[in-house]
Amino acid sequence: MKITFFGVRGSIPSPGPLTMIYGGNTPSVLIETDGQSFFIIDAGSGIRRIGQYLIRKNYPIKEINILFTHTHWDHIMGLPFFKPIYDKNTKIIIWGPSSNGTKSLKEIITGQMVKEYFPVNSEELEATFEANELKDRENFRLNGCEIHTCALNHPVKTLGYRISFKGKIISTCWIMKCILKRIVLLLLKIMKKFLIF
Ligand SMILES: [Zn+2]
Repeated sequence: MKITFFGVRGSIPSPGPLTMIYGGNTPSVLIETDGQSFFIIDAGSGIRRIGQYLIRKNYPIKEINILFTHTHWDHIMGLPFFKPIYDKNTKIIIWGPSSNGTKSLKEIITGQMVKEYFPVNSEELEATFEANELKDRENFRLNGCEIHTCALNHPVKTLGYRISFKGKIISTCWIMKCILKRIVLLLLKIMKKFLIF
């Protein structure tokens, strides 16, 4: 299994001398299980380079699975620039947390491609899209991997993925800023108690 981090930044792509070591793209990870099978976690701006890599390596791109941790923009913004979505022979299978409201997972992710924001409307895409909405503590198999979901603490429904392949286990769980924020707030609350006395 080969894991390549094509994007690791939060919030906004940030190229420049300060991000030269880990790169300036927002989250997108390629997991290659063997020479012919792969899947992707998140579609931040790093997924653009994954598309280029897959084409350069002559990977079969008939079916591409993308696991989304959540639908905040930094985790979906690269999808319009992912070349395989313009290939009529490609099926994109989206996996991700079920939505709370009126929009489905597929609508939320492809909904960023409307004329007001992007020249290509999602309905004009050549590839077909299929979506699998997931909940906390679900198990499923993908390209020979066992995948287990776990709900994470974040302002929108978010999932971490535990992936096992041939006895090896990896977990993807982006460090959520709000967890740190809550810890800091809790510490401040405790300190305040002592300060009053
Ligand atoms: Zn987020």
